[in-house]
Amino acid sequence: MKRLINIKTIAIAVMAMTLANCNSNTTTEIKSTSDTENPFASKVDSILELMTIDEKIGQLNLPTSGDITTGAAKGSDVGERIKQGKVGGLFNIKTAEKIYEVQKIAVEQSRLGIPLIFGMDVIHGYKTTFPIPLGLSSSWDMEMIEKTARVAAIEASADGINWTFSPMVDISRDPRWGRVSEGNGEDPFLGSRIAEAMVKGYQQDDLSENNTLMACVKHFALYGAPEAGRDYNTVDMSRIRMYNEYLEPYKAAIDAGVGSVMASFNEIDGVPATGNKWLLTDLLRHDWGFNGFVVTDYTGIYEMTEHGIGDKYQVSEQALKAGVDMDMAGDSPSIPVAFVKTLKESYENGKVSMNDIDTAVRRMLTAKFQLGLFDDPYKYCDVNRAKTEIFTPENKAFARTVAAESMVLLKNEDQLLPIKKSGTIGLIGPLAKATNNMAGTWSVATDQEKSNSVFDGLTEVIGDKATLLYAKGSNIDYDLGLEQRATMFGKDIPRDGRTDKQLLDEALQIAAKSDVIVATIGESAELSGESSSRTDLGIPQVQKDLLNALLKTGKPVVLVLFTGRPLVLVEENENVPAILNVWFPGSEAGLAISDVLFGDVNPSGKLTATFPRNVGQVPIFYNHKNTGRPLGNDQGIFEKFKSNYIDVRNEPLYPFGYGLSYTKFDYSNLAINTATIDMNGSVEVSVDVTNSGDYDGKEVVQLYVRDLVGTVTRPVKELKGFQKVEIKKGETKTVSFTLTVEDLKFYNSELDFVAEPGQFQVFVGGNSDTKMMKEFELKN
Ligand code: BGC
Repeated sequence: MKRLINIKTIAIAVMAMTLANCNSNTTTEIKSTSDTENPFASKVDSILELMTIDEKIGQLNLPTSGDITTGAAKGSDVGERIKQGKVGGLFNIKTAEKIYEVQKIAVEQSRLGIPLIFGMDVIHGYKTTFPIPLGLSSSWDMEMIEKTARVAAIEASADGINWTFSPMVDISRDPRWGRVSEGNGEDPFLGSRIAEAMVKGYQQDDLSENNTLMACVKHFALYGAPEAGRDYNTVDMSRIRMYNEYLEPYKAAIDAGVGSVMASFNEIDGVPATGNKWLLTDLLRHDWGFNGFVVTDYTGIYEMTEHGIGDKYQVSEQALKAGVDMDMAGDSPSIPVAFVKTLKESYENGKVSMNDIDTAVRRMLTAKFQLGLFDDPYKYCDVNRAKTEIFTPENKAFARTVAAESMVLLKNEDQLLPIKKSGTIGLIGPLAKATNNMAGTWSVATDQEKSNSVFDGLTEVIGDKATLLYAKGSNIDYDLGLEQRATMFGKDIPRDGRTDKQLLDEALQIAAKSDVIVATIGESAELSGESSSRTDLGIPQVQKDLLNALLKTGKPVVLVLFTGRPLVLVEENENVPAILNVWFPGSEAGLAISDVLFGDVNPSGKLTATFPRNVGQVPIFYNHKNTGRPLGNDQGIFEKFKSNYIDVRNEPLYPFGYGLSYTKFDYSNLAINTATIDMNGSVEVSVDVTNSGDYDGKEVVQLYVRDLVGTVTRPVKELKGFQKVEIKKGETKTVSFTLTVEDLKFYNSELDFVAEPGQFQVFVGGNSDTKMMKEFELKN
């Protein structure tokens, strides 16, 4: 407790004056239950007693780092505010040197020396970058996912950071929404397991270690369900849907001990999440027992004025009283609304109480104690760690493995893949050399140029065994404006000076000389991500035209598809013999893609979001309800007065859980150990999975449950178990699951979490479309 003693020593000199001037600030307020359970409560209170109201409000302020560069922090605007005790933390700043310098201002030059917390969007890795989260989730490998968060935490903390705005666990069923790339897909059960794995990976069991990060689960809540898939748009959802289909992953993160929560931009029941007391206090704290702190999303408090909730005073007051503790980016000069700009006046006018303010300050100070910052504010600023623990050969090798595990083989006619390392390979497409796009969206710390491109990867892996030819083939899109919007943040793919025809002609010449064509086509990195919603879910037309021209040559074409969302691929599925969806694989993209193309790694990823046949089917998801008029066939035959479309069949192109392998897995002998269970019982489910193909491989065995009768309608299938198993060629493995009554529970119309007696079906298979089924009954 060296730091605390220092703080006290510094403060004692000024305490008498402070006490005299700010009498009301020093009142000991009634503590909430969570405060009394807080092991740091008395230390926190001892600091709180010394603080002026400005210093208190300062603790709730989270500006971006702005103009800080090494050596310039002291003179910077934010440096001044830190000195005045008006800043609680900073985000978007990195490197141990810079953070050390800024921390020093807080600790040595502010009156109380309270250290800052340093946050960043460490979303899918730090410098070593893993696949975008939607890709990572397709690995279905929880241990591996946890380790990606662990590696990210080690690297980011070695660079001075102690808080990450991750995991993002928003369930989304709408691929128009660009941020579907940042989440784990459409399923709450899988999403919850990933939420737990990520929190554990970042935080471990001890936040005070210097190589862990405090996690921040976001965006609380329901941000993944905006109307029409347009980012930041209104969300309107029944409570029963929220509880059964959207809230579970946030709760899983809370149960896993996540230190902080980010409020979402959207409204819930007509009240923006940032000012929603039901959400941030009643549900989050009272029902779920969360006792960390809540931060807004970027300018979230200000945005409540745009939502039409009140003036600058009212929105800050409402956010504070709703349960917000920290205001992100509110105090930038262009924003008129922020805790630091209005709360003091609101206090003086009696609109917020000192207790309201103290409650938030307590939580911020507690977080800093949890991180061990009062013991050693510079604990994350070890430049030697930065030199030796970031972007290491081991981390890069791991990223290569992870990327390959996340790829999903969508089609492989006549076993075109894997291809051989021989002959002439024609690498064609605008993404082949786009090194800076490989890490994908939300890769703010990545050195984009240090990723390996597909061209780099193939060159290295082929060596002198085969000839590699290259042509760009096309730009990203015919529309220059769209192309620019889709290649921002240092991810530009310079537009080629040649005409579309010249590019295509060159590609066709290369194709003519090739034995096999690898077409690197799809979205550029920022065509998905924040504020990148789309109404057209196809591959950009210019690339489609390129692909069609390549197919017309009659040469075998492998489509290496880059995407941050489910796309509409009906034509490609019809015409292209092999499609490997690589998402955005991260910093080791090129090598990992080569590993899979040549069969050094057998693909095993499975989709975690449904791929529709057209945009009109959206939102489309596997765990839908049955309706009163379900279509009586699954051959896609239209039936009048049934729930279907007149112009397209109901089923998606690729269902949730779908993904092929170079080998073949056969399922047999599905068995359950009992036909009835009681309320304390459980069911053992087993299935034999045989690898009947020519390669060793991994299969994600999935278990789904259908509750046939309920007091409220229940989905046609819900994922309740999965296992990723390695099976050698010719081998059969028996895979077993235990289903307990807990797994059969859901929220009823009273929002009670119950299991209701009745008949249940259990489905097991390699994707959500499986028909292999057994039944059992739950008795009272
Ligand atoms: C995003 C958050 C992110 C924050 C800070 C916002 O625009 O919605 O996900 O953590 O910016 O960068």
